[in-house]
Amino acid sequence: MSIVVNVEEKLYQNRYKVDHGRPHIKIKEPDLCKNDCKTQSCTFVCPASCYKAEGNGAVTLITDGCLECGSCRVICTELSNVQWEYPRGGHGVLFKFG
Ligand code: SF4
Ligand code: SF4
Repeated sequence: MSIVVNVEEKLYQNRYKVDHGRPHIKIKEPDLCKNDCKTQSCTFVCPASCYKAEGNGAVTLITDGCLECGSCRVICTELSNVQWEYPRGGHGVLFKFG
């Protein structure tokens, strides 16, 4: 008998220490996302759903829960609009609890 565990359940096993007021990833120019980015790929490539396509065409980013996978930096090559750093020491994701 196999046991199926979905992605949401797996992610729930991680823990995060949020560096309040100091997000480690930023959108450099939010207007570029709204006006010049045709794909807004970050909104569907991020496994933690940190990027959100708002109804008005804008894209917002909340880095709480970020898995530090780097996908958003890689996918945003055309406009290079993501400023990406690792979190400060002691902050960010702690993998594999439970
Ligand atoms: S892929 Fe880059 S430019 Fe496009 S919406 Fe995301 S952050 Fe903005
Ligand atoms: S590094 Fe990965 S998990 Fe973090 S915001 Fe970018 S795509 Fe999402």
